[in-house]
Amino acid sequence: MTHLVEPTRQGVLHYEPTTAAIERRAPAERRLRDVQAIFADRLACQSLLTTNPLIYRVTQVEDHNGEGDIHYGIGMLMPGKVGREYFMTKGHIHAWRPAAEVYIGLRGRGMMLLEDERTGECLAVELTANSTVYVPGYTAHRTVNVGDEPLVYWGVLSSAAGHDYGAVAERNFRLVVVEKDGQPVVMERVDFLAELQGAQA
Ligand code: MN
Repeated sequence: MTHLVEPTRQGVLHYEPTTAAIERRAPAERRLRDVQAIFADRLACQSLLTTNPLIYRVTQVEDHNGEGDIHYGIGMLMPGKVGREYFMTKGHIHAWRPAAEVYIGLRGRGMMLLEDERTGECLAVELTANSTVYVPGYTAHRTVNVGDEPLVYWGVLSSAAGHDYGAVAERNFRLVVVEKDGQPVVMERVDFLAELQGAQA
């Protein structure tokens, strides 16, 4: 005898790892117009805004909000660049600062920028299919797609974590990931801005 139960009532959700779709869930989309302020090259940004490309799509599962519960979400970050800077997410830090998160790469080739709010320490690590990244508490994080196909990943964290976008939007990240001779390189933002000014002078 089988007992068929509505899947979500049992905590089961089906997702599609190539498109990052989750059944019966509506994704949130971020296009260039929504996130334009994060990119360093203003001229390149202006010209790309005529097509206003999709930068990323996130679908969150936040069904359980009791003590000890977990939220999770799947992200799909498109391939592309604004000038030399690869497409990336806005980035955030958790409203509850001690909350850590694990990212689980499903598809593509990317990086994560990690910035410790207490020490200012910055780190760029790879996020690829079949790899995980542990994001400790007190750490702002941003995802960057350095490949030529969509970067798809899960993020799993405490339901109490919350998202603080304002703190990151004010100062942006100190590091940037830009293309140089066909390869992704990590630079200090101030150095990249100086290069841009030199090139556009
Ligand atoms: Mn997070």
